Amino acid sequence: MSRVAPSSLALPACDHRPRPYAGPPRNEVLRDRKRYCNPGLFTFYQEPLLIVEGHLQYLYDETGRRYLDLLAGVAVVSCGHSHPRVAARIKEQIDRLQHASTVYLHPNIVELARRLSAKLPEGLEVAYFTNSGSEANELAVAMARLYTGRSDVIGVRTGYHGGSAATMGLTALHTWKFPLPAGGALHHAVCPDPYRSPFSGSPEEIAQQSVEEMRDLIAASTPGEIAAFIAEPIQGVGGVTYGAPNYFESAYQAAREFGGVCISDEVQTGFGRTGRYWGFEHFGVVPDIVTCAKAFGNGMPLGAVITRREIAEVMARRLHFNTFGGNPVAAAAGLAVLEVIDEEGLVENSRKQGAYFKAGLRDLQSRHPILGDVRGEGLMLAAELVSDRKTKKPASRAALQVMESARRHQVLLGRGGLHGNVLRLKPPLCISREDIDYALQVLDIALADIQL
Ligand code: PMP
Repeated sequence: MSRVAPSSLALPACDHRPRPYAGPPRNEVLRDRKRYCNPGLFTFYQEPLLIVEGHLQYLYDETGRRYLDLLAGVAVVSCGHSHPRVAARIKEQIDRLQHASTVYLHPNIVELARRLSAKLPEGLEVAYFTNSGSEANELAVAMARLYTGRSDVIGVRTGYHGGSAATMGLTALHTWKFPLPAGGALHHAVCPDPYRSPFSGSPEEIAQQSVEEMRDLIAASTPGEIAAFIAEPIQGVGGVTYGAPNYFESAYQAAREFGGVCISDEVQTGFGRTGRYWGFEHFGVVPDIVTCAKAFGNGMPLGAVITRREIAEVMARRLHFNTFGGNPVAAAAGLAVLEVIDEEGLVENSRKQGAYFKAGLRDLQSRHPILGDVRGEGLMLAAELVSDRKTKKPASRAALQVMESARRHQVLLGRGGLHGNVLRLKPPLCISREDIDYALQVLDIALADIQL
């Protein structure tokens, strides 16, 4: 692919016409957000964007300017923004009954649990619904501890599991951890990703050595037995990092030898994001507990912990209640999402477009030395920027420059990794080949414009 002159670049055509925006002006929204919202809320870009409308893979600002969305609300909006089918189901439900609580029966929560279990390996058939990924992981860890009667949980370095006590404790990126006591008896094994591994050799050898280190960690830092091993099949916030295909089988085996159950955090990787329905399917393992959220509701707060009945039963030992979890509206969204993914072939599109996008990124890598690594599966892709391919020094400022430049060309990206030098590309799964061609042209220009 050769570079296109910036003046002749054009987003693929789209016949959606955004509605005129009648809300407060951008500078007022910015000013009042700074004044009244918690300062912990951060924005992308030197000049934060006001986004007021969405249509499938596109977002619109208050002036009606269209953007190709390669972030999807942080891997959430997989069916596409304001997908008509999902929106209609939500509206239909909200007009009839918004909330009554799980102390009464409602068909949506039951139907959703049934359909979710049909998407998972046999035995993973009992669901508990939550409002977020953090909540789902917190609950999964609690279930694992109650079920095993043990406390110690092993996570993986550069993993991200949430912002609550145990999930922040299991998160292994200092940038996302407050100095607060967190969850107790939590440990972090080496990440098997070969790009920044402390070990050397082939990716498979690195995976094996990473599991050996995990065994050492358990022997040294726990009572020699654990409650759980929790991992993202492909780390999202960590920068789309993952090990060779042999990693998970060995890691699960080790965790089970020490008495632990295996939790697959599918909050980012679930529902087709990686080109398979679930991330663990890439690695030939079957977890004991699966957690999910994000894409499950396509933007509605909906998460779940799905596990085997014997593990799920620990929750009946006390009263436990989640006011909003699995409410009829969120569940209606979940039902619509499951249908849209199947009917529109989104898992297949993720696999197909993802392979095309990755090949395009590899092509860019061959021409831009700053692209140290290109990785990912399906439409969970990343390009890691380094100022020197040998030392792999993170080029974090360059990543910011690429984001600003892409935004000028109407493409919105994400950023991640411990050093913030990884471009994260996670578009809605309905993205087209023409969109990807456009994104690659924009990235080509943005990478060429970097000033280190
Ligand atoms: N697990 C993973 C893998 C995530 O990426 C996230 C969110 N980035 C979470 C858990 C936490 O989800 P939530 O923000 O919905 O609490």
